[in-house]
Amino acid sequence: MSENIPLAPVTAYVALGANLGDAAQTVRTAMDSIAALPETQVSHRSSLYLTTPVDSDGPDYVNAVIEVLTGLSAPELLEKLQKIEQSAGRKRPYRNAPRTLDLDILLFGSEQIDSPSLTVPHPRMAQRAFVLKPLAEIAPKLVKPAQLRAVRDQAIEKL
Ligand code: AMP
Repeated sequence: MSENIPLAPVTAYVALGANLGDAAQTVRTAMDSIAALPETQVSHRSSLYLTTPVDSDGPDYVNAVIEVLTGLSAPELLEKLQKIEQSAGRKRPYRNAPRTLDLDILLFGSEQIDSPSLTVPHPRMAQRAFVLKPLAEIAPKLVKPAQLRAVRDQAIEKL
């Protein structure tokens, strides 16, 4: 049997967040960059949400979640997402400026991954309204009402 038979695509969910510069545009451009990855299509895009920073100060974040169908492996997807993060960061005007974009793999099919560089499902996704609300918008079956109730005090609004 050939080893080159492509695997069936996996349905994965990626969280996007930005809070520097034109954050909404950064998130939209990142969605387009992910859609342009090899063997990958974006099947659903949530609305953009404006959220108050949870663990830090600074301007409000723009957050969103997308569903992707991909033939990439989870480590390959992570590597490509990190390149997209870096190219968004390079737009910053000075050396070591803060990153403008954060991309996290929330779910990768039903895979459970616990490696030094990748933990999936993302360990903090259930504590964050800025992940659960947009995820519930595009994949309601993946988020339980009790999970949404648990984060209802976190400020979040649709842009
Ligand atoms: P952050 O500060 O959230 O951008 O963290 C980036 C680091 O988290 C990278 O070194 C990744 O290797 C690691 N990481 C672990 N699990 C994940 C995940 N599910 N999605 C994205 N990055 C992850």
